[in-house]
Amino acid sequence: MSTTTPSADPPRPSAAPPSSTQETPPDNNNKNNNTNTDINNNLDSSQKRRPQPDPPLPTPKLRLQVNDLRHPGTLSFQTLVPDVVSTLETALSTIIRTLYTVPPPQQDTSSPQSATHPTPITFTPSLPPTRSITLILRDIPGVAYTTATELDDSHKEITISLPYIHTSAKRPSEIPGVITHELVHCYQHTAPPAEPGKTNNKSTPHPPTGLIEGIADFVRLKAGLEPPHWKKPSAAKERAEKWDQGYQHTAYFLAWLEDVRVGRGAVGMLNDRLLRVGYCEEGGKEGGGEFWRGLFGVGVERLWVEYGEYLDGCGCGADSKTGEEGERDQEKVVVSAG
Ligand SMILES: [Zn+2]
Repeated sequence: MSTTTPSADPPRPSAAPPSSTQETPPDNNNKNNNTNTDINNNLDSSQKRRPQPDPPLPTPKLRLQVNDLRHPGTLSFQTLVPDVVSTLETALSTIIRTLYTVPPPQQDTSSPQSATHPTPITFTPSLPPTRSITLILRDIPGVAYTTATELDDSHKEITISLPYIHTSAKRPSEIPGVITHELVHCYQHTAPPAEPGKTNNKSTPHPPTGLIEGIADFVRLKAGLEPPHWKKPSAAKERAEKWDQGYQHTAYFLAWLEDVRVGRGAVGMLNDRLLRVGYCEEGGKEGGGEFWRGLFGVGVERLWVEYGEYLDGCGCGADSKTGEEGERDQEKVVVSAG
C-alpha cells in the first residue's frame, strides 16, 4: 500500500539472517540451572514466595558507529536516544523477561482458558552467545536491519537508517521500538546449532520469516513500544490472511497465545523449541506439524481459527486486558504528546 501518511504503512525493519553458529544448549537436566525445581526445594519459605530470578542480563560489548555526523538524522538520534546504553539494556531486559523467563507454576493459572487448555510452561532458558552489538547509523533506504559479522555469528550489527531516524523525530518511541525489534534478532533462536565445523544448519527447516518477525514485534509490543499505526484486530475479519503474515499481525496472534490461550512464557517456550528441536513441518496439514502440536496440543492453523473465534466471541479485541496495561497507557500518552 502506498500512502503519503508516514504512520499508515511505514517501511518495516528487515529480518535477520538465521543464526547459525550457536553454542550447544545446556542439558535440560543440568542441576546447576537456576530454574531447576530441585534448587527451589532448598530455599527457605520467604525465598520460595519470590518470583524465580530472571537469567542475568547479558553484557555484550556495545558499540555505536555514526557514518555521517552532518546528517540531520544524527542530531535526531541524539535527541531520541540520549542514553544508548540505557535504551539497549532496557530492550535487553524486556527480551529476557518475555523470551527467557519461565513463570512460577502458580502464575500459569491466570489465563481464563488455562483450565480447559492446560499446557505446562516449562523450558530451561538458554540465551544465544551474542558477544557484541554494534549500532550503525547510515544513510540507507528503509528502516533497519540486523546481520552477523562475516567471521563470527556472535557479533551482531544493527544498521538503522539515518533518514528514517530523522523522519521519526516527532515520534519519541519509534526508534527505541525499532532498536528493540532489531535487538530481538540478536537474541532469538531460529534453529538448533550447526554441527561442529559447519557454519550453517541446513538440515533443520527454519521457521517462516513471519514467525521470526512476529516474535520480534511481540517483544516490542510487550515493551509498550508499539507504533501508532499498529492496529490490534477486534474481529476475525480484521486479522491478517495468514498467521505468519509477520510483524504486528503475528505479534498480536502470539500475544493472544500467551495472554489468553496458554499462559505467560508460551512464546519463550516456542523460542526455546526452535533451539532444541527446530521447526518441524512433517504432518504439516495444519501448518508447523509436530512443532505446534508438540507445544500446544494442536496445529497452528487450528490455533489461528481459535484466535478468530476469540476475537469474534469475546468482543474484547481492541480493548482486551493483555497484561501490559500500564505500559500501553503510558505509550498512548507519549503518542498523543508527540
Ligand atoms: Zn525484523
